[in-house]
Amino acid sequence: MKYVLVSGGVISGIGKGVIASSTGLLLKTLGLKVTSIKIDPYMNIDAGTMSPLEHGEVFVLNDGGEVDLDLGNYERYLNVTLTHDNNITTGKVYSKVIEKERRGDYLGKTVQIVPHVTNEIQEWIERVARVPVDQSGEEPDVCIVELGGTVGDIESAAFVEAMRQFQFRVGRDNFVSIHVSLVPVINGEQKTKPTQQAIRDLRSLGIMPDLIACRCKLPLEESVIDKISLFCHVGPEQVLAVHDVSSTYHVPQLLENKLLDFLKMRFKLDQIPIGSNHVNAG
Ligand code: ADP
Repeated sequence: MKYVLVSGGVISGIGKGVIASSTGLLLKTLGLKVTSIKIDPYMNIDAGTMSPLEHGEVFVLNDGGEVDLDLGNYERYLNVTLTHDNNITTGKVYSKVIEKERRGDYLGKTVQIVPHVTNEIQEWIERVARVPVDQSGEEPDVCIVELGGTVGDIESAAFVEAMRQFQFRVGRDNFVSIHVSLVPVINGEQKTKPTQQAIRDLRSLGIMPDLIACRCKLPLEESVIDKISLFCHVGPEQVLAVHDVSSTYHVPQLLENKLLDFLKMRFKLDQIPIGSNHVNAG
C-alpha cells in the first residue's frame, strides 16, 4: 500500500482537496486502485451538526455519513464509494481512545496523546486504506490522506505527529508528502516568503515535503520555481505550479507531468506490474 499525504500551509482553502483528488485521479490513469481519507482536525464527531455557514455544505455518503465536501470531490474524481470511516475527526479518534480506556484496553498505562492517540490515528488509516471502494471489490493500491486545516494549528498537532511516525511505519518507498502552499501576487510580483515559512514549519515538525504545490493566481514564473527550489531545499522538479483555472477539473492537467514522473520514481511504480497486487507488498 502506498500513501500520499496532502497537507497545507499559509492559509486554508487554497485547494488541498482539489490537489488531493487530482493526484488520486492521475494515479488512477496508471491503472492503480485509489482510495482516500480526509482528516478534519475539529472536535465534532462529524460535519452533521455544523452550520453550512461555518463549514460549507455537508456531503452525505451512501452509508449516511455526514462529512466534509472534499469527500464528494473524491467520489466524483475517483469514481469510488466512500464510508463515514474515510473521514477522521479529532472527535472520532478521542471517542475511540476513551472507549478503549473505559474497556480496560490500556490497563495500567497512562493514556496520552503520544502514543495512544497517535497510534489510533495510524491504525485507523491503515485499516480504512485497505477497504475496497470500487466495483472491483479489490483492495486499493494507493491511499490519498488529506490533512485538513493548516500545519502548525494546535488542532492538527496530533495528526501531524501521527503522520511523522507513519512515514517510518510504512517505509520511505511507500510514503510521499505533498505540501500545498500559497504564492500571493503583490504589485505584480509573485512572493515566495509565505511558502518558505510554511515549509520551515512543516520540516520543524519532522515531515520533509517531497512535492510543494504552489497555488497562485497566475502561472508560476520559472524564476519563482527556482527560488522556491533554492530556499526550500527541493529540486525544481519537486515544485508544482497550480494557477487559478476556470474549472477545477483542469487541475489534473496542470499537475500531470511533474507529479506522475515524481510518483513513479519514488513509488518505484515502473518495477511493479500494474494490476497485480504486488504494489501492496510494502
Ligand atoms: P482546501 O481543501 O485547501 O480547503 P479546496 O480544495 O476545498 O481547498 O478548494 C477551495 C476552493 O478553491 C474551492 O471552491 C475550489 O473549487 C477552489 N479552487 C481550488 N483550486 C483551484 C484552482 N486551481 N483554480 C480555481 N479555483 C480553485
